[in-house]
Amino acid sequence: MIRFLPCVEGEDVPWARVFSHAFKSKGGWFIENCPTTIGGKCPMCEVNNELWNSGLESDKDVARSQKRKLSYYSNILVVSDAANPENEGKVFLYKYGKRIHDKIVSAMQPEFEDEESINPFDFWKGADFKLKIRQVAGFTNYDRSEFAAPSELLDGDDEKLEALWKSQYPLKEFTEESNFKTYDELKRRLTQVLGSTQTHTAETVTADDFVRPTTSDNTESSEVRNESSDDGDDALSYFQKLANED
Ligand SMILES: [Zn+2]
Repeated sequence: MIRFLPCVEGEDVPWARVFSHAFKSKGGWFIENCPTTIGGKCPMCEVNNELWNSGLESDKDVARSQKRKLSYYSNILVVSDAANPENEGKVFLYKYGKRIHDKIVSAMQPEFEDEESINPFDFWKGADFKLKIRQVAGFTNYDRSEFAAPSELLDGDDEKLEALWKSQYPLKEFTEESNFKTYDELKRRLTQVLGSTQTHTAETVTADDFVRPTTSDNTESSEVRNESSDDGDDALSYFQKLANED
């Protein structure tokens, strides 16, 4: 059971949104943040566009395996964790994909009129999130995860909430320019990895454990549980709108 936490001081959105590529090809792994996250040009996405447009199914398969994946990062409090009780009551950065993001969106923007809209990131009116992780056909599946009924976090104790809020991690650094290699750097790496052919193995990298960054400028260790995801731009406009309304 986890609780999504609100924006830290000086930030407008309680999540960071990052595209990345992670795949293995002839010359090794290509694991890089995708500059399209911050509006830049990405040599890998350019290669994929060419493959996609070639009209060959086999090229499309390669493009699929190399495409950018969308991840979100949010601060969370681990409310309870029977398997890892030492994590309970601690703040982590949580990395999640489109499936869970969609659940957040539908909590904020319910599909039916009789459903109450909640802001999961709210200390007082938010709700705990029950993470239910299953293996379905060899893949990690989060579909059964759901929000509990709205409740005050830490019984609404202002002092405890403030201490909690101050222990959260900044999210801005995920989308700082320094977090992305230049076009030329990526192109060089890509040439090494792709080699002369486009053969590859479709594998994905996952990190399974909660990680607590030890310093605020440490982005390397901030990966938490990892949900593979598809591209999902659909939700963004809603969140941008929401952020602008604040
Ligand atoms: Zn890219």
